[in-house]
Amino acid sequence: MKGMMMHRPLKIADILEFAAEVHGEAEVISARHEGDVHRAGLRAIRDRVCRLAHALRARGVGEGERIATLAFNGHRHLECYYAISGIGAVCHTINPRLPADQMRYIIDHAGDTHIFVDAPLVPLLEPLLPTLARPLTVVVMTDRAHMPDTPLDGVICYEELLDGEPTRFDWPDYPEETAAGLCYTSGTTGAPKGALYSHRSTVLHALFVSSALPTVLQPGRKVLPVVPLFHVNAWGLPYVAPLAGASLVFPGAKLDGKSLFDLMDAEGVYSAWGVPTVWLGLLAEIAARGRLPEGFGHVLVGGSAAPRSMIAAFEEMGVTVFHAWGMTEMSPIGTVGALPPSVRAGPPEARLQKQSIQGRRVFGVEFKINGENGERLPHDGVSQGELHVRGNAVISGYHANPEATEAAIDAEGWFGTGDIATIDPDGYLSITDRAKDLIKSGGEWISSLDVENLAISHPKVRNCACIAVADDKWGERPLLVVVPEGDDAPDSDEILDLLATKFARWQLPDEVVTVDALPLTATGKVSKLTLRKQFAAQRAAEGGRTP
Ligand code: AMP
Repeated sequence: MKGMMMHRPLKIADILEFAAEVHGEAEVISARHEGDVHRAGLRAIRDRVCRLAHALRARGVGEGERIATLAFNGHRHLECYYAISGIGAVCHTINPRLPADQMRYIIDHAGDTHIFVDAPLVPLLEPLLPTLARPLTVVVMTDRAHMPDTPLDGVICYEELLDGEPTRFDWPDYPEETAAGLCYTSGTTGAPKGALYSHRSTVLHALFVSSALPTVLQPGRKVLPVVPLFHVNAWGLPYVAPLAGASLVFPGAKLDGKSLFDLMDAEGVYSAWGVPTVWLGLLAEIAARGRLPEGFGHVLVGGSAAPRSMIAAFEEMGVTVFHAWGMTEMSPIGTVGALPPSVRAGPPEARLQKQSIQGRRVFGVEFKINGENGERLPHDGVSQGELHVRGNAVISGYHANPEATEAAIDAEGWFGTGDIATIDPDGYLSITDRAKDLIKSGGEWISSLDVENLAISHPKVRNCACIAVADDKWGERPLLVVVPEGDDAPDSDEILDLLATKFARWQLPDEVVTVDALPLTATGKVSKLTLRKQFAAQRAAEGGRTP
């Protein structure tokens, strides 16, 4: 027997309309590249979103059309999120830190027709646009007075685009499975892969996450996403915060400790979200000033493992730490790291132990761990295997990429995360290693295999391996281990110059080390595990940190 309830499609625009009506006192506060701090209530933001939606329609943007953004965190970027998805088009967020050839690839692969760009990022587009497969209309997200000088043709000014458009929009109905957002993530090798979010997955993700954070996001509270809007929807905050009635404080491009401290202090930010690297800067600023930013009480650390010392430092100052884990392919939240009252009130050592691991799942995400032959392993806190996930906000495949889809989804239909983990009987997830050959530096990916493929093309390199080494600031940094061809070993600069032709500066290995031979596994593959252990032991002997 079927239930007899209405079925209304879940739509992202409904979050905004609800929030504007019910949480109209909540604000969106943005530190802008123009140099000011812009403030608008959610109703004013809704009005601007409606004007943008009309303007997009007037330009002929249709359902399913991909519209790119290349921007930091600010109210105009948020307006793009809601207006683009609201008319049934797809908001494709692009990471400005990507090397140019990857940016070109994803714009072409997505088939973007327009790009909304922050004025300071326009120079990134100037050399790129003539090399794209299709023409791309550029909208610069500023007013006429701040439009940059650019040789690009037909550039549109964002504020002029909105001028004169009506402040109400009759959002169309479309099936809830309609695509709404697109975010590419690095593959272990070759081209990035696109996670294509739907209205349904996005709304459900917002509900799942807000249900896990009842003590954090509330009306009257302010939350600051340091995590960029171009990194998996800033972990869902553009949707979760308005839904819960919390205000959003956007930091723009300035993410150093001093800028963050000043903004948080001036606005009374309660909760801030980001990767471990950014919190080092904030902690240093807190130490220098001898006080916390006014009102600061909660930090959500994710994207990479949160160091125990960082968690302890925040907690000792009275800032509650949630250690979250997730993935682009999961919208992204898998765990938020909220602790039960007994653990929070218990001995600090036991609490720290639980906070240092990745925590328990949010509703809507299921976990299993697979052994080497795809068999399920017990959740006993000891058995280690590849973590697999399933849920309504997890991808069912990659956008227009059947090979990557086939490799990612297992025989039971679960998504393989590439993380090696244990899960204990109480459901606590602990990530112990990474099966995917990638390095995560300051929250951004570097493909070891891509580095190796280019390095090995150097005539003086016989073999090489790129591994992650632990780094206090960035979490991990790449180290390239090279076996020379013959007696004439290449010097570091020769290799780094070659790599610089393809990789961004921050992706280049910090060190190139020459060895006689690489350690091999039983099957004859390079054993990166052995190499990582060797270099970790060497670093420890030199007094450095071990992974
Ligand atoms: P991304 O898709 O760029 O967000 O990266 C997701 C990956 O980052 C995960 O599969 C993990 O390898 C890593 N990651 C994210 N959060 C954590 C965490 N809290 N601890 C350890 N690794 C993490």
